[in-house]
Amino acid sequence: MNLANIRIVMIETSHPGNIGACARAMKNMGLSQLYLVKPIRFPDEEATARASGASDVLEHASVCDSLAQALEGCGVVVGASARRRAITWPEFNPRECAAFVAPYSDDTEIAIVFGRECSGLRNEELDCCSHLVHIPCNEVFSSLNVAAAVQVISYELRMQLLQGNTANDEPVLIDQPATSEELEGMYEQMQQALVEIDFFDPDKPGKLMRRLRRLYNRTALERREVNILRGILSAAQRQARLGACPRTD
Ligand code: SAH
Repeated sequence: MNLANIRIVMIETSHPGNIGACARAMKNMGLSQLYLVKPIRFPDEEATARASGASDVLEHASVCDSLAQALEGCGVVVGASARRRAITWPEFNPRECAAFVAPYSDDTEIAIVFGRECSGLRNEELDCCSHLVHIPCNEVFSSLNVAAAVQVISYELRMQLLQGNTANDEPVLIDQPATSEELEGMYEQMQQALVEIDFFDPDKPGKLMRRLRRLYNRTALERREVNILRGILSAAQRQARLGACPRTD
């Protein structure tokens, strides 16, 4: 388990105190990469005060304009969700999440994404995640403070680091997972190809692309597999274009 490759992404956090508390929780557990997507107030005295001895995590935090920017280079993206969703994603508890990411962490950048205090993660943000992590709590009161959620999930990552050295001696051989940008490129081409072969009507999108993303995301696609799928899409697009303009020779 290499904690240096795991980033915590906070989306549009409203309270700077939560950003500071998150930095502290991270540093306590040995994490250091904090990404802030459009924080409402940052930098801020309250964040620094709540970070206590972890102001270095805040100073090195990357402030981003979009989630896509915060996920650049990531091969594994897990969303932290306080509630059950209409379309279900494969879901871990924090311990399972730590065990899942550990074998990737040696050579792959990993993101764990946290939502807004009042409204959590939006569907378009969940679309970027292959898995969700949910902290099981009292069903009638299941929403933790965002920094408390970061604490619980980071603690399990640390436990995996401490136990993994003995329990997980065998390296797990995996091919390079596709990065978030590579997947986005594939989904863009897929949508375009589905339009060209008359399967998808952009005026009546429904939930098709969301369901397809969920299907592919849960298989944790590797880079070579994305290249194969894109090759197939290109071939379908070529055929569709030939069909639309039959050759005259
Ligand atoms: N009212 C919001 C809750 C937001 S809490 C909602 O209904 O979604 C802010 C963030 O903390 C959440 O988006 C999530 O990333 C994290 N969080 C809070 N409780 C959690 C839980 N039980 N499991 C996993 N993440 C949680």
